[in-house]
Amino acid sequence: MLMVAFGQTKIFRKPVLGLFHALVFWGFCVIIFGSIEMVIDGLTGTEKALKILGPFYDVLMASGDIFALLVAVSIIIFLSRRLFFHIKRFEGIEMKRKSHTDANISLSLILLLMLSLMAMNIGYLGYHQTAGGLKDGIYPIGRILITFLTGLSTENFKLVYEASWWSHILLIFFFANYLPYSKHFHVFMSVPNVFLSRLDPLGKLPNMDNITREVKLMLDPNTAFTASAAETPPERFGVKDAEDASWKNYFDSLACTQCGRCTSVCPANITGKKLSPRKVMMDLRARMKEKGPLMIKNGREFNDNRSLLRDYISEEELWACTTCNACARECPININHPTLIVDMRRYLVMEEASAPGEIKALFNNIEKNGAPWQFSAEDRLLWAKDLELNIH
Ligand code: SF4
Ligand code: SF4
Repeated sequence: MLMVAFGQTKIFRKPVLGLFHALVFWGFCVIIFGSIEMVIDGLTGTEKALKILGPFYDVLMASGDIFALLVAVSIIIFLSRRLFFHIKRFEGIEMKRKSHTDANISLSLILLLMLSLMAMNIGYLGYHQTAGGLKDGIYPIGRILITFLTGLSTENFKLVYEASWWSHILLIFFFANYLPYSKHFHVFMSVPNVFLSRLDPLGKLPNMDNITREVKLMLDPNTAFTASAAETPPERFGVKDAEDASWKNYFDSLACTQCGRCTSVCPANITGKKLSPRKVMMDLRARMKEKGPLMIKNGREFNDNRSLLRDYISEEELWACTTCNACARECPININHPTLIVDMRRYLVMEEASAPGEIKALFNNIEKNGAPWQFSAEDRLLWAKDLELNIH
């Protein structure tokens, strides 16, 4: 988590844009202390409540002031890329107009937050400079910008301070309420998601516990009547709908930033297949939002005759995946798409006996010959029959 989330190591694979994103993230980490202070001030009537932190408060305010400018510049770059350039990574069948509008609204809100923060610092500085009072904290950017406003009176600076204080806090509350409906929910979800990410090698597929149990029972029939064997049989093998997915799959889908880095490296997508790993995550989130509230209202058995499989994600998309794990490797917040894709395939194979022809032939061969090829086990060494081998 320290490396990937706070150090933004995966984001830096694209160094220039990565730097701007990292500035926004690090800025958020610093500026949030100022926001907490504003809430304390607002609730208790204090002025700059965190000044009790002493010299650390100066560091906090100074870095917040500098980051406000850096974040504003980064956001202007991000917005310009979205509005004026055609960036392939932001396109795709899953990227509806709503997704673009959402991204633009969130970026604009962050920009307004930064501008109001800078205005607040200028107003605060100007008020204290003109009134001759003592100020708390250091504001290096505010100090430079205030030189453009030398003509303002104490009263006007006070007005700027109070107006921007209120604009800033109201924007924070609006943004916090908007976030759960937006892709920018990743602001809250990405760090915990990285913390909870699987530490196994990417290529290792988790076993299915209920299958392992069945196999163990078959290998040792004596256990067939034990307590564990009497457990309720699994409702379903694999994943058909949102409720079959693991909690981590849900978490992943809520944390997804829709950045498209996964899709941009997916060999299936690059070669024109229907699969887009970003879409898989977005579909799970959409299905969860559609069915979750109805299940809470009507009980777990609720069925709306729709499912994640087919109504959202087609078989064609699922079977296009090569399980190469490029998507999971590239994702800046360690989302693991192949586990969900494979679990949906497991449902298709185990519950519906549905698979592409080539894979069905492979299954038949394994069943008949104990190997994926169409030759019987006895013929397996035929290739070596004419070789003159000196076998001891
Ligand atoms: S694992 Fe599947 S979805 Fe992910 S990049 Fe590879 S082919 Fe694409
Ligand atoms: S899954 Fe990861 S890489 Fe893909 S769009 Fe979401 S956050 Fe970006």
